[in-house]
Amino acid sequence: MTDLRIGHGYDVHRLTEGRRLVLGGVDVPYDRGLLGHSDADVLTHAVMDALCGAARLGDIGRLFPDSDPAYAGISSLALLEQVAALLRAGGWAVVNIDATLIAQAPKVGPYRREMEANLAAALGVEADRVNVKATTEERLGFTGDGSGMAAHAVALLERLP
Ligand code: MG
Repeated sequence: MTDLRIGHGYDVHRLTEGRRLVLGGVDVPYDRGLLGHSDADVLTHAVMDALCGAARLGDIGRLFPDSDPAYAGISSLALLEQVAALLRAGGWAVVNIDATLIAQAPKVGPYRREMEANLAAALGVEADRVNVKATTEERLGFTGDGSGMAAHAVALLERLP
């Protein structure tokens, strides 16, 4: 029987002035950015947690603790490459990933193909295995009032024979 495993990831970061906005490895033009120890790429963090969940690797907080200065300001795509190496070592192949960014603004539709390509490249898989989409929460809650952004992701892995 094919050994398939599903994982879910969820992440939140606060929006603040004086930071770049990095989403799926794309520098998105905006007047604020996400606050965090790394580049605070909330979308990539949710993807990594989904992959970690599927492969039973725990979570990215355990793999890359924010108390470790090695990860200060690091590109989250570089961390995703490290997750990909762990997946390969464990004999896992990525079947597909579906990720949802939750943000009131800015509009990220024009960047989604680039985000998908970045995530797929970091994982070493075909771009058509990664889907990125975005939604607002109708001006409700912390994403709606612009205090932060959230992201969900699911990932499906297959154990290679
Ligand atoms: Mg995070």
